Amino acid sequence: MADNYDLVVIGAGPGGYVAAIRAAQLGMKVACVEKRAALGGTCLNVGCIPSKALLNASHKFEEAGHQLAEFGIEVGKPKLDVKKLMQAKTGIVTGLTDGIGFLFKKHKIDWIQGEGSIPAAGKVEVKPSGGGNKQTLTCERILIATGSESTPLAGVEVDEKKIVTSTGALELTKVPGHLVVIGAGVIGLELGSVWKRLGSKVTVVEFLDRIVPGTDSETAKRFQRSLAKQGLEFKLSTKVTGAKAGKSGVKLTMEPVKGGQPEEMTADVVLLAIGRRPLTAGLGLDKLGVELDKRGFVVVDEDFETSVKGIFAIGDAIPGPMLAHKAEEDGVACAEIMAGQSGHVDYNLVPGIVYTWPELATVGKTEEQLKEAGVEYRKGVFPFTANSRARANLDTEGQIKILADAKTDRVLGAHILGPDAGTLIHEICMAMAFGGSAEDVARMCHGHPTLSEGVKEAALAVDGRPIHI
Ligand code: FAD
Ligand code: NAD
Repeated sequence: MADNYDLVVIGAGPGGYVAAIRAAQLGMKVACVEKRAALGGTCLNVGCIPSKALLNASHKFEEAGHQLAEFGIEVGKPKLDVKKLMQAKTGIVTGLTDGIGFLFKKHKIDWIQGEGSIPAAGKVEVKPSGGGNKQTLTCERILIATGSESTPLAGVEVDEKKIVTSTGALELTKVPGHLVVIGAGVIGLELGSVWKRLGSKVTVVEFLDRIVPGTDSETAKRFQRSLAKQGLEFKLSTKVTGAKAGKSGVKLTMEPVKGGQPEEMTADVVLLAIGRRPLTAGLGLDKLGVELDKRGFVVVDEDFETSVKGIFAIGDAIPGPMLAHKAEEDGVACAEIMAGQSGHVDYNLVPGIVYTWPELATVGKTEEQLKEAGVEYRKGVFPFTANSRARANLDTEGQIKILADAKTDRVLGAHILGPDAGTLIHEICMAMAFGGSAEDVARMCHGHPTLSEGVKEAALAVDGRPIHI
């Protein structure tokens, strides 16, 4: 294996592995340093993929237990084998992580397994994961794609057994009687839903007075009502002050954010999900003088270059939404810029999706953001109760909301709560990417009967002329 490369990528998550492939496609000689035993980063190993496998399986379990009976299909009480469920999840993960190994071979990218650090620009030192001598790689450029880790909370010591992060919550060996989730964000609601569907009592404790902060607040309120109907319990405006694991479970202490009587709660398992923070410790950025912002994210310019020439950064390690598809877009744009092309990412068009049921999908501006910016907008809303396919599926929870500029009709944002919202949102992303108007979406022929017809109707509703409400 050569020691001299055009590009050395540190981290093989969706940002790093995609950047490595794109750079190789553009003719660069690339190495990717990854300390895990498998490629794919947080997303494939302990994030997007295992969580979606469990969300899908638990949704089927829920359907078998309740929803199928509504169609007259009696299957009896479904029985859960947690061990088999986890084996299936692991198989899915391994299939995909192995697939990246195959893609690396195809593009002649060297995977160097070990922990990377940067002693100087143009040099990456690798400490092999299995021990042995350090190796030094020399290169034209270095790309930091080291991702993020779970944010800790003082007084809540994670043991990944009884007090877990998302990683532990994806590996539980039995269904907890009572799961307390700290944080009503994306991880808390997705993994809370998984274990609720599989039989846990789930209580979500949130610091703010709302769930999924940052998303359209009217849609978030509907989302909370929908999750509450499924049995998730919410304690908002509440601060967790400590959690202690003992033989019989975990004792949590909490208090109202505005002050007041402290409270205690017991749980079998506590999931800490209060956000993620950039992971750059150990890279040697301090010594190199690579600038970090106040929250520890690597500061980059519009070319993804850090304050040190020849060192670039992407993905969760830099500011912006901490999402796999955003990291991938960063990776492609960064590799193209390195090759002299004009890579670019429009962060306003990065969709955010919560893969619960109903799903929550959002792109562009929220109503609050438009009001704050003083933008005059028109709103079109269409409920899934009026969509024939949702009715045929007996799956009518939620609505589609499209926001468009009052003068130009240009689509500014969309917020979808409902079945397959994560797929439906992309029609709006596409319209926005082409500078489309609500009228453009409304005039396009949509197949019948599809959930997508709801998008057309919401676009018609922007102009006050929906057909089916
Ligand atoms: P990462 O995927 O974190 O990859 C970084 C890699 O760098 C890691 O493999 C790490 O081992 C390696 N590394 C770090 N330091 C070093 C070093 N010094 N030397 C060598 N290697 C190093 N996003 C979505 O878009 N959709 C989802 O459905 C979704 N679900 C998620 C569910 C969970 C439970 C979690 C935790 C996250 C989820 N995310 C999801 C977020 C998504 O996983 C991240 O946004 C994405 O993985 C970021 O990609 P990245 O390449 O920047 O970093
Ligand atoms: P998050 O930022 O989505 O939510 C964290 C929640 O915890 C917020 O509601 C916040 O107000 C709350 N919180 C913060 N401190 C608290 C405290 N002390 N007590 C109680 N509540 C507190 O973070 P997350 O859910 O941990 O997810 C981390 C990242 O992973 C997110 O940026 C997300 O984009 C990404 N992710 C994405 C997906 C997806 O795309 N479907 C799935 C999982 C994770």
